[in-house]
Amino acid sequence: MYNLVGALVHFVGPQNKTTGANSAVSAKTAVRVRRAARFARTRMRELRMIVKALASTKHPILVHIIPMRRCNLACTYCNEFDDVSTAVPLDEMKRRLDLLADMGTSIITISGGEPLLHPEIDEVIRHIRRRGIIAGMITNGFFLNQERIKRLNRAGLEHLQISIDNVTPDEVSKKSLKTLDGRLEMLAQHAVFQVNINSVLGSGVKNPEDALQIAHRAVELGFTSTVGIIHDNNGQLKPLGEREQSIFEEIMELGKRSFSRFNEFQHNVARGREHNWRCRSGSRYLYICERGLVHWCSQQRGYPGIPLSQYSPEMRHREYSTEKFCAPRCTVSCVQQVGILDNWRDPQNLKPMPMDPAPQAPELVQIGPAGDIQ
Ligand code: SF4
Ligand code: SF4
Repeated sequence: MYNLVGALVHFVGPQNKTTGANSAVSAKTAVRVRRAARFARTRMRELRMIVKALASTKHPILVHIIPMRRCNLACTYCNEFDDVSTAVPLDEMKRRLDLLADMGTSIITISGGEPLLHPEIDEVIRHIRRRGIIAGMITNGFFLNQERIKRLNRAGLEHLQISIDNVTPDEVSKKSLKTLDGRLEMLAQHAVFQVNINSVLGSGVKNPEDALQIAHRAVELGFTSTVGIIHDNNGQLKPLGEREQSIFEEIMELGKRSFSRFNEFQHNVARGREHNWRCRSGSRYLYICERGLVHWCSQQRGYPGIPLSQYSPEMRHREYSTEKFCAPRCTVSCVQQVGILDNWRDPQNLKPMPMDPAPQAPELVQIGPAGDIQ
């Protein structure tokens, strides 16, 4: 910490004295300093989050919350969007965030649909931070521009993830390096929050080499890089081919700066092997849909499907001890990362509460990056 302060003084001093022609350099330096400071603060808070998670099993570690189901894109593999829904009103979002804060939640990641379509998303982020929670967001990046990035900086965003599916747009996905590269450069210049670029591998991905190109570009721009594996419409395993597996391993190597070094289970996923872990969704991980209902995860929507306001500590405790039938072949990496903190303790011996089965999606879906907990 002392060294960091020293570094800040070192950088900020010269910057204050610069004028005229070198003001662009000075602005860049200012962004770097603010980024380093926010990074250090976030890492400290993440460390506290881990200590708290190891000390107690009574609070959620990670929550994904949906402020808006609508999306400006329509990736053909996706079952997580519509093109009609409206934004959840800010007051209602704040009420849900307060309920999560009162449960002791450590990290909230805003997801969608496309969260940047929400007209008051800055205020949603601000409220997460006001309640002392680490704030992240997953976006397709299409609405990012310089002004928007600066607003996210001011709101206090700490993590941002963009998924890029291919190098050039095709009929499956427009989330391409070609369409997004300019925005990535803007992020590299102006964002003071951490940026992770997630690429994908698996069935439906035409050119596996694209994932490697995307990962290298991410690292070149100073971002972390992760890779997600296409799974079926219940979040279940799809083994990779030989070439895809070696690309996967290469990207995992590149991603060693991030939490991905803890992602041993992803190697099982890549090989199509079942893995042995305890899914603590409904307890340590919550997925809150736009209607304010709690679900196990994005791929098991419908379980338990209880309004957040009625979701009691007893229900969370029950889910903590409930064995999930989908765990051995699960590919939802963020929940598996959360699981690492509890896998060593408390075997699960309860069965899921009787419920209607979750609705089935018509297409393959991909959500699970092999990277940061976001
Ligand atoms: S994958 Fe993301 S960008 Fe594509 S349709 Fe789904 S929510 Fe929208
Ligand atoms: S094991 Fe957990 S995270 Fe994976 S699909 Fe099932 S409920 Fe979702």
